[in-house]
Amino acid sequence: MTTVTVWNEYRHERESDVVAEIYPDGIHAVIAEALEAAGFETQTATLDEPDHGLTEDVLDSTDVLTWWGHAAHDEVREEIVDRVHDRVLDGMGLIVLHSGHYSKIFKRLMGSACSLKWREAAETERLWVVEPGHPIADGIEEYIELDETEMYGERFDVPAPDTLVFNSWFEGGEVFRSGCCYRRGNGRVFYFRPGHETYPIYHNEAIQQVLVNAVDWAGPGEGPTPTFGNSQPHEEIDLSDDRTVH
Ligand code: ZN
Repeated sequence: MTTVTVWNEYRHERESDVVAEIYPDGIHAVIAEALEAAGFETQTATLDEPDHGLTEDVLDSTDVLTWWGHAAHDEVREEIVDRVHDRVLDGMGLIVLHSGHYSKIFKRLMGSACSLKWREAAETERLWVVEPGHPIADGIEEYIELDETEMYGERFDVPAPDTLVFNSWFEGGEVFRSGCCYRRGNGRVFYFRPGHETYPIYHNEAIQQVLVNAVDWAGPGEGPTPTFGNSQPHEEIDLSDDRTVH
């Protein structure tokens, strides 16, 4: 069974009445509940816990980590970023949500600034499925419509995704690559745009379905463990014409 750790900065919910009303127990609680209901073994971790809740033990029992952060990216210790980065390269799945585009871990994995345009004007967003055969789009209609969202607009300064699953259109005219799949080392990374803290985005059923699909997709594969470094030949090589061999 896939085990998921839902990580949340968990500051807005404790500091803002507006956010607390939408997510009284935190964004992580709502996401974890949706994933639990889908049959995943789920735990949560937050910034202000020791090691940000991401101890080696916790990561040992994590197939997929989801990441929501916004106001306190700088407070995430480098040592923990290193730890999560190593795990991703080793095969742990990572789902980066909304304002997590500026998290240290996402920027490091992308190797770019990950900047974008934004605007808070309660705009309609349509997330068009542009890759209907992709497992992350299972059970989703041709598009997901959200009545009130924060706008994110292109250019989104990330490397071209291996697969783009969602492309968003906003009422104000901008577009945005909202569902981006990457592989880094043995790990699978999915960036998913929706989720501003002042709108009840993670209560939306279609959004929850995408998160469930993404966790399913991002879990470690069962491929071979690669070996690296100097390698003995698998067949006999004719060295008679090699002048560097003495
Ligand atoms: Zn936001």
